[in-house]
Amino acid sequence: MIHLLFLQNWRHNYAYPTRFLLSYWDTLTFDPMQSFTDSGTPFSHEYFMRQALREAEEAFAKDEVPVGAVVVLNNRVIARGHNQVELLNDSTAHAEILALTTAYQALGSKYLPDATLYVTVEPCLMCCGALYWGKIGKIVYGASDEKSGYQHFTIHNPFHPKTEIISGILAGECAQLMKDFFKARR
Ligand SMILES: [Zn+2]
Repeated sequence: MIHLLFLQNWRHNYAYPTRFLLSYWDTLTFDPMQSFTDSGTPFSHEYFMRQALREAEEAFAKDEVPVGAVVVLNNRVIARGHNQVELLNDSTAHAEILALTTAYQALGSKYLPDATLYVTVEPCLMCCGALYWGKIGKIVYGASDEKSGYQHFTIHNPFHPKTEIISGILAGECAQLMKDFFKARR
């Protein structure tokens, strides 16, 4: 009986948490203690967009236009970026560009045909060009950008013909962050 209690106790205290950590460890790319309850299913578009949103929030906190991006390959985040135009005094330092550069360095490759870029806001034309040259496999963006997004400037597809585009993922949250940022500056 004592043994049985011990075993039950041990399983309760150690076995399940340990199994939980082991089974999820490989899936985590950022915060090991992160709960999935508000992040979408692991590996869903919502899950990775939430990681891009964290980058956008970081930009917001630094008084940068709150756009964030992550590059995902084989369900792992291999690169992150957020807008750093103010910090770098560089009007080309958009989240997508910085994330792409990090991804190229991480992989030692100038093309990313198997990768997906998640970005909180519709890319501008400059970033479309960068994504075109990188031959990125898929682009998933959140909110539309009626002022600076590529669709405001062209009706043509500016991406590589093989690049798949998905839009509107967590669009409300991505847009809200932008609204809050510009509202605070008025
Ligand atoms: Zn851009």
